[in-house]
Amino acid sequence: MSLQDSNGRHRLQDDYIIGPVLGYGGFSVVRKGVHKENGTEVAIKTLRKQGFGYGDKKNGRKSTAGPTQDSLISEALVANEIIVMQRIVENVSPHPNIVHLHDVYEDEAGVHLVLELCSGGELFDRIVAQEKYSEAQAAKVVKELATGLCSLHDAGIVHRDLKPENCLFLTPEEDNHLKIMDFGLSQIDGATSPIVGMFGSVDYVAPETLSHRDVLPASDMWSLGVILYILLCGYPPFHGTSNKEKLDLILAGDVNFEEYTWKTISSHAKQLIRDLLAVDPHRRPSAKALVSDPWVRGDIAKQDRLP
Ligand code: ADP
Ligand code: MG
Repeated sequence: MSLQDSNGRHRLQDDYIIGPVLGYGGFSVVRKGVHKENGTEVAIKTLRKQGFGYGDKKNGRKSTAGPTQDSLISEALVANEIIVMQRIVENVSPHPNIVHLHDVYEDEAGVHLVLELCSGGELFDRIVAQEKYSEAQAAKVVKELATGLCSLHDAGIVHRDLKPENCLFLTPEEDNHLKIMDFGLSQIDGATSPIVGMFGSVDYVAPETLSHRDVLPASDMWSLGVILYILLCGYPPFHGTSNKEKLDLILAGDVNFEEYTWKTISSHAKQLIRDLLAVDPHRRPSAKALVSDPWVRGDIAKQDRLP
């Protein structure tokens, strides 16, 4: 499976029936597809080779603004996502917590990544629907994401854009696997590329990435700490009245548990958040350590959870 393989081979439309749009990203549109011969349902992520601006996914609008940034950057992003996905296929897949890449096609419309279909929706939408999670539910989400990150980090990949919009449930069942996806900004060990210096959503970005453009596996652990905080209380840990204030809070790792919601949350959970949101990346637990943490494993009995 490589871009070369798809050249001169079948076209996407020869192999798949293209279905409805599943979602829009900043640089892509994702549609459902069904394999014509074996009936396998997939998600087809089309990355346009030139220019951004497929639209605003939350509004489902299609942008008419056209390319808004240097097309060289968008080409670099497309190339980067393919390289990372191929590294995942070679070193990690199949993995219960990482979206699998089945195939790649290329045509004049762009590059099409044929992905495992995750029909359970984004973690983002479940948080919005549920407002906040119980500790047991949050621990399960953290365990799933840490298990995926553990394999990514072992393969020398830092995700760099971990957030609830980039985590999908495999099926609509409540306790189905959660999958990490969207490797557009991911970075392979020490690789230098035009994406260095870019980062994903500011709400989830680690202080070392903001201040020094450092990208470490521990930077993903920070993002996971932000996700855990949001799961337990329903709002983000760093929310100043201005962007500058927010950035200052992130750089200082100034997280607080003062609001009422936190009164009923265990000291274990709060300590874990403090550890993940340590400003010094070397003080954060690794994904591997997190997977065997007793709170994450659900080994802490309910009565021990009281603050
Ligand atoms: P971008 O890199 O542009 O942010 P994403 O990879 O995050 O694009 O995909 C955009 C949206 O498309 C996702 O938030 C999700 O709703 C949907 N999507 C992406 N991949 C899949 C998939 N494998 N299965 C189902 N839906 C998907
Ligand atoms: Mg995305």
